Amino acid sequence: MTAPSQKPRYSVVVPVYNTGDCLRDLVTRLQCVFADTIKASFEIILVDDGSMKESTKTLLEDLAREDGVMVVRLTRNFGKPGAILCGLEASRGDWMITIDDDLQQSPEDIPLLIAHEGHDMVTATHARKQHTLLQRSTSWIKAIFDRAVLGYQVKLSPLKLIRRHVVDGMLAIKTNRPFIPALIRQVTNDVASVPSEHCKSAQGRSRYSFKKRWGQFSDLLVGNSNFLMQVFTRLGFVVAGLSFALAAGVIARKLMGIPTQAGWSSLMVAILLIGGLNLAAIGITGQYFIRLLDITSKKPAFVIRERMGAPPAK
Ligand code: UDP
Ligand code: MG
Repeated sequence: MTAPSQKPRYSVVVPVYNTGDCLRDLVTRLQCVFADTIKASFEIILVDDGSMKESTKTLLEDLAREDGVMVVRLTRNFGKPGAILCGLEASRGDWMITIDDDLQQSPEDIPLLIAHEGHDMVTATHARKQHTLLQRSTSWIKAIFDRAVLGYQVKLSPLKLIRRHVVDGMLAIKTNRPFIPALIRQVTNDVASVPSEHCKSAQGRSRYSFKKRWGQFSDLLVGNSNFLMQVFTRLGFVVAGLSFALAAGVIARKLMGIPTQAGWSSLMVAILLIGGLNLAAIGITGQYFIRLLDITSKKPAFVIRERMGAPPAK
């Protein structure tokens, strides 16, 4: 632990949403790991992402009284990435550690990440996740896109160790729809991974509804990359090329005197295909514009209601 005025070596950022007593266990286990194994100064920043449960609010007020624990409450539910970004902004350490509040990642694995401090970012990777089939399939799809869109060679976990200058770079990027892996990728390619176990959630049900997962997924695709634009541009060229080839074929048959059948169905297919592609491309372009509008109107990624506990010495 560290005195409030001193800069700690490590800042642990935990997004919190309608959580239970496991948060107290997490804080205790973090304190033990830092005191017994890591033996370095640290602070714990709990960011309450607009929890509605009274028990969570009381628990956070309680934890804010602990040494080295700071609680930041947001005005409403902004989503996990906004909460993490808020925690990173409040942090003072040389290294930031992000971890979920439901003990699915073990605080005891943090020293494994610290052993790779030569890199800008170290992520835990979980070979097998304690998730439902739906959660597993969405994180599988997300992993594919993390690789295809963002170029990550490793599977990411919420348990990450991030160097201060990377965090500063991430915070300099102005976005109201943050996607943490994309922000990290904007700043560095120097990423290492450490295998670690994924435990059963101490919270029971996921607080990440399908709608929230989908929202973040579309933030990755539209808000944090030009992937869809590229796909549709290439598809547009391919479809246009095909129609040229078809037209050339029809002309060649005419010239050779081969009778051509007026094909109503193929014409309809072509019209629908082109029409569909056009509509999709217009829709995606529209989404990019909405995101641009969000940024130009300076919509925030999070708004702080209050701070409790150790104040930042920045
Ligand atoms: N979380 C958040 N805001 C939300 C939903 C979740 O800050 O709107 C946090 C939650 O407190 C936890 C992390 O995101 O620390 C992951 O949530 P959860 O364990 O429910 O999701 P899953 O394990 O299914 O990804
Ligand atoms: Mg979880």
